Amino acid sequence: MFGYKGKILYVDLSSKKLIIREIPESLYREYLGGSGVAAKIFLEHYKEGLEAFSEENPLIIMTGPMAGTPTPAVSRFTISSLSPLTGIWGESNCGGFFAAKLKFAGLDGLVITGKSEKPVYLFVSPDSMEIRDASKLWGLDTYESEEALKEENGKDSEVIVIGPAGENLVPFASIVHRKGHLAGRTGMGAVFGSKLLKAVVAKGSESVEIARKDEYSSFLKEILQNYRENPLMAALKDAGSNSSFDLSLQMGDLPLRNWSVGDWPEGELLGPAYYKEKILVGIETCYACPVACKRVVEVKGGPFRTEKGPGPEYETIAEFGAMLQIPDLEFIAHVNSIANRMGFDTITAGSTIAFLMDMYENGVIGKDFLKGRDLRFGNKEAVLEIVRDLAYKRGVGELVSLGSQRLAGKVGKKANAFLTTIKGLEAPMHDPRSNFALALGYGLAVRGACHVSSLVFPVSFGFMYFPEIPELADFGDPHSEDLKPQLAVKAENFGMFFNHSAIWCIFGGSALNATQAVRFFNLVTGFDYSLEDLMERGEKIWYLKRGIDNLFGVQARDDRLPAKLKTPLPHGPTQGLAPDDEKLLKEYYKLRKIDPRTGKPAKEILESLELSELTTLLYR
Ligand code: SF4
Repeated sequence: MFGYKGKILYVDLSSKKLIIREIPESLYREYLGGSGVAAKIFLEHYKEGLEAFSEENPLIIMTGPMAGTPTPAVSRFTISSLSPLTGIWGESNCGGFFAAKLKFAGLDGLVITGKSEKPVYLFVSPDSMEIRDASKLWGLDTYESEEALKEENGKDSEVIVIGPAGENLVPFASIVHRKGHLAGRTGMGAVFGSKLLKAVVAKGSESVEIARKDEYSSFLKEILQNYRENPLMAALKDAGSNSSFDLSLQMGDLPLRNWSVGDWPEGELLGPAYYKEKILVGIETCYACPVACKRVVEVKGGPFRTEKGPGPEYETIAEFGAMLQIPDLEFIAHVNSIANRMGFDTITAGSTIAFLMDMYENGVIGKDFLKGRDLRFGNKEAVLEIVRDLAYKRGVGELVSLGSQRLAGKVGKKANAFLTTIKGLEAPMHDPRSNFALALGYGLAVRGACHVSSLVFPVSFGFMYFPEIPELADFGDPHSEDLKPQLAVKAENFGMFFNHSAIWCIFGGSALNATQAVRFFNLVTGFDYSLEDLMERGEKIWYLKRGIDNLFGVQARDDRLPAKLKTPLPHGPTQGLAPDDEKLLKEYYKLRKIDPRTGKPAKEILESLELSELTTLLYR
């Protein structure tokens, strides 16, 4: 087999059994890799009543066929499981160096079930695959744990690890790699914690075979030259994921004060120029990525002194800056380092704090609910206390550790007007009022409100361009509903191949067009797929994940935007604008053949895609 190693390690932490399964090429031909393969495996483990913290819930770590090759920006892995935050399909992906190392250890992925009696970590290499004691690591933060594991296993090993948030089952705990690469969303770190699994360590130097080596080499050379000449890649290298912060602020893409206002002049203090001046001290990259968009920061003194380490990404700056109304990059760098050490998702954490602040300032909750704290927008001290306490479920941190949807249940019906969740997941930092396509991008994202669950966001925002797919090249005015359902369907289908199964990074991958991506895939795997073939497989994977969501109770009513995200703002760049999600969904459901009441895909479409197991479960 080319690209793929053809092996997945199955681990049962209860019985301590490890089995390497040979994977037939036919499975990879159909489900491609990454979370496509993970969704197929997840369905095999599905049973009614499955719970996120049950022993039976599988934790599936998968690479794609190009991980470990020199192909740019594609050595990533996905982690999938039933999410403890949302109760539906959970998934997160991560860059860095772990995916390549897992392939060099001889594996395409791992499927972990059961629950250990004591804290453990998994060690995988071509020579040995073992469950090892991690009792001494339990309680340590992610930085300390990774350092200890590298000390034990050699500097040439790669580690993914959880911190106290995962150990204490915070439902939005993340998995951390090299201190600043995070599989952040949907609480995969808490699933690790529920199994008493602290980390996975990979080591090895097996090669990843490329099918058509000579053609691959000359194509790679050509593409690397394109990277050097691409202005977007230069902007990412220069300013990282925060490079478009100023643009987002100007166009109303950046949510402010829990999505409630349209203007914030101090916001410019969070832009790339200030980032460079105040906190930037270096740059980092992922395996085989010429872009190097990762930031290294340091705060040398003052109340938010922060040691040199990974810097905040755009989403964290937007959450802890714009949403909480704190225009201070030193503060945000400090918060980011705590979140990385503790191992939790800054999008859910920031949104949940903003949700509390908004309710407090509007008199829905008082100081008594907030354990005496004056949680106004802009209160840095209160936010810092929460961030320090969250992983340990102390003080107001305990409330925030629930995530906003569960917290709303504690407050009562009045809280709903302040929520920003879809299917239990807090919306990321791009506003559908500035770009109507996001109403569908968020509403139909299979893991809950998300801007990278499909390519709707990067394409409609303008930093990805796939002229070979007409619906992704011409999708009308951003403030009109026209052509958005067609865009959404194709962006989901192509995305399931591009950034979910092949696992291209949405930043580094945006230098490629669709033809180049397909060519890389074929040159590495030796397959002979057309763009249409891969779109068809992407479509199948999308329906499979949607069907899994339906099995866990998702209905059409769960596809709507929350009121916060579709209430027109009185001022600012999007003044008076909001998408009509009912109109968008009506057309979308027709295209997808989804029942507008139950939200389930029609039996015929599932049968035509040969998803027989799923059809039986949904229509028994
Ligand atoms: S663009 Fe940035 S995040 Fe993406 S692979 Fe390259 S360095 Fe990593």
